[in-house]
Amino acid sequence: MKIPFNKPTAVGTELANIADALARGHLSGDGYYTRRCHQWLEQRLGCPHALLTHSCTGALDMAAILCDLAPGDEVIMPSYTFVSTANAFVLRGAVPVFVDIRADTLNIDERLIEAAITPRTRAIAVVHYAGVACEMDAIMTIAQRHRLLVVEDAAQALLATYKNRNLGTLGQLGCISFHETKNLISGEGGALLINDERFAERAEIVREKGTNRSRFLRGEVDKYTWVDLGSSYLPSELVAAFLDAQLAHADQVIARRRATWQRYHAGLAELAASGALELPRDSYPDRVPNGHIFYVLADTLATRMALARHLKTQDMLSVSHYVPLHSSPGGRKWGRTSGEFKVTDDISDRLLRLPIYFGITDAQVDTVIDAVKGFFATRAATIR
Ligand SMILES: *Cc1c(COP(=O)(O)O)cnc(C)c1O
Repeated sequence: MKIPFNKPTAVGTELANIADALARGHLSGDGYYTRRCHQWLEQRLGCPHALLTHSCTGALDMAAILCDLAPGDEVIMPSYTFVSTANAFVLRGAVPVFVDIRADTLNIDERLIEAAITPRTRAIAVVHYAGVACEMDAIMTIAQRHRLLVVEDAAQALLATYKNRNLGTLGQLGCISFHETKNLISGEGGALLINDERFAERAEIVREKGTNRSRFLRGEVDKYTWVDLGSSYLPSELVAAFLDAQLAHADQVIARRRATWQRYHAGLAELAASGALELPRDSYPDRVPNGHIFYVLADTLATRMALARHLKTQDMLSVSHYVPLHSSPGGRKWGRTSGEFKVTDDISDRLLRLPIYFGITDAQVDTVIDAVKGFFATRAATIR
């Protein structure tokens, strides 16, 4: 029985929705299904404006345009993240300033942010790793004190909360991903959440190739024209129809994902107590994660690699990431560092993600847990 690392979420009603979109005869963006997705996001997340994009990368690009950066402006972000967090700002001529992460959440260490601020700093781009919230109160306070914007890379964080507020709705702008590796998907897909009215009108324009076409479609102007920077960030109705089906089952998908996460945590707790490996924290008083990533931390890079090989021989796939951006060729060329990266470097060597997806059975999770336990049992025996 092969256990893949990920299987794209499927809820069963996607194809009927796509057939309906075809029947409606409008397949480019911003039709019936796009509007339904916008409404769902705005109502469920509690944000004034949501706009679907073709990816979270596209939403981050839009956020970077909306931040109105000048060449040489700086954006503070964690080094331990996906490349799109940084690339969006580099494309505007800005400089990503990398800082280290916290060892408990693997999110940006808020205690290191102020030391990274210079007169050129314009924004902080936070990443809610694994759908676990950053220390948002502290981060928003720093941002207000220094008049910085906060962009949330909430790619992994849909329906995870911080003090009962949805991630992606706390900063001025939030970016969500519906890539097939995320909890809720449309193959490729994303959304920009606009939480500050100042950005609402311009966001629409940036998304529609720099034109005021959205106002034209609402009958607010009698022709549309090029008014600002922009590109084509909207998805087709086919993608929105697929996503709409998934959003209708969001609670079921997230609940199942959280249950799978907790099953791993409980199943490996004894092994962790023995000191063989480390597990992420399983609960917080002030935030509720969404079960996006389940990871373990091995003691060394060598152990991590041996564990991944062991799982592979038993047809179970595990995955490690990220190459820290501060040590990547792109990060060295376009970014700069602030402080040391002890936690980032250490975590990126030792972290291993175990299979988690909607549809993985409890029996499959137990098989993976047994395989991990088996690895450490044989290792203990050979060392002895
Ligand atoms: C997945 C991911 C992205 C990119 O999302 P796409 O929708 O694939 O563009 C950006 N940032 C983080 C932290 C991610 O996990």
